[in-house]
Amino acid sequence: MTFESRDAKEDAELRLPTVAAVSSPFGRGGVALLRVSGAEAIAAAEKVFVPHSGEKVRDLPSNRATFGAILSQGEKIDEGMLTVYRAPKSFTGEDVCELTCHGGILLTAKVLEALLRAGAEQAGPGEFSKRAFLNGKMSLVKAESVIDQIDAENEHQLRLASKNADGALSRRLEGVISALTELLADIYVSVDYPDEDLRELTPEETLDAMTSVTRRVRALADSYKTGRAVAQGVATAIVGRPNVGKSSLLNLLLGRERAIVSEIPGTTRDTVEEKATVGMITLHLIDTAGMRDSSDPVEKMGIERSRAAIERAELIFAVFDGGEEATDEDRALINDLRASGKQVLAILNKSDLPPRFERALLDGFPVVVLSAKDGKLPPELQKHLEELYRAGDPSALEEGLLTNARTYAQVSSALELLEETLSALRAGEEPQVAAICAEEALARLKQTDGAGVGEDIAASIFSRFCVGK
Ligand code: GDP
Repeated sequence: MTFESRDAKEDAELRLPTVAAVSSPFGRGGVALLRVSGAEAIAAAEKVFVPHSGEKVRDLPSNRATFGAILSQGEKIDEGMLTVYRAPKSFTGEDVCELTCHGGILLTAKVLEALLRAGAEQAGPGEFSKRAFLNGKMSLVKAESVIDQIDAENEHQLRLASKNADGALSRRLEGVISALTELLADIYVSVDYPDEDLRELTPEETLDAMTSVTRRVRALADSYKTGRAVAQGVATAIVGRPNVGKSSLLNLLLGRERAIVSEIPGTTRDTVEEKATVGMITLHLIDTAGMRDSSDPVEKMGIERSRAAIERAELIFAVFDGGEEATDEDRALINDLRASGKQVLAILNKSDLPPRFERALLDGFPVVVLSAKDGKLPPELQKHLEELYRAGDPSALEEGLLTNARTYAQVSSALELLEETLSALRAGEEPQVAAICAEEALARLKQTDGAGVGEDIAASIFSRFCVGK
């Protein structure tokens, strides 16, 4: 069953149970926020909250916080504020009650328990956002962008997410959707109204217009290159034989620009992953275990370990000691890199020493010459990355970029269908026949922002959100 936002409203309200969850992060805090949504939300809140004013919860005005007592099994356990939002003017489009209490872990759990006893069910991950989407309150792209805003760890990620949450990507999508819709209408006009004296597009005009729409869709698909490098980051490995300067490069990458660095210690030292930003690009530095303090020779990256890192990475910084002649190990690594077909940036380190490394061995790879000991990353390194990921211009973040695999898959499948349409037109196919493919492309573009997305797909998208969102 599919949900167009308008029809979905009634369905969703009839079927969906009232749900509750803690919407603030888990842990101790000044206050915690609990949210209840659904047809029984106000009734459930009434069993848990008694306004000090003497009013009944059901009589409280909408959108205004009221102070009162919070009850658990008839006993007052806290005091807090309750705000009632009435459908459809709420985050989810249903009746919503938001209750704040003091932010103790046990206390918050007890208030949630009280709401569940009062008739609400525990909300699943992303449940509130899913309802907002099903009730036509929020487009899919916007819902995803809000999650990106929450997850943002650097200024560029936040800026990109905020622009998309503000509608930049939705507007760009709407632009191509309406251009394609108009073109299809023009193509079908003679079929739909054969008796009217409407001017048909000439084959050249049809081809031109379709080429121009396709170009816009291609630019949108291409925006994923930048959007992904900024929003998700690029899995990057630093490889090279011992003592070439991998740790020094790592420290340089981590130390610059007050990059937000996080260490996610795994179960073993093998799964350490760190993040660095270079310009707008986030690098996920994989398998950096032991590199930061490489005095431990066991931790130095061996050939097997390099191969595994190359396998997992998308971008490889291959470090060589420019002050020494290439060793067999260097040559073996170069062979592995060529065979991998991965994006490689060769780093010729120790440029402060007299050059001995045979540069010709690196032919075909972009090479950055640097001295990691110098404490500065050369601007060429950033420039190379910015060219690779088309991420040199911060103003690009405002244009609405694709940032996740779902939207990219939708837009690139639409692009393929448009390319097929173009080949058919070029081969002299009737526009009305060629346009069948373009119609499917239009459907994919519409689905990108959620139109006609089935409940099962919506459920799987929103299940990646956190509980309470
Ligand atoms: P790794 O084993 O590849 O991680 O290499 P390290 O980063 O631990 O560096 C190995 C040695 O090379 C250390 O003594 C560093 O101080 C030295 N080193 C690193 N970068 C440079 C450089 O640019 N110039 C010089 N002369 N020495 C460097």
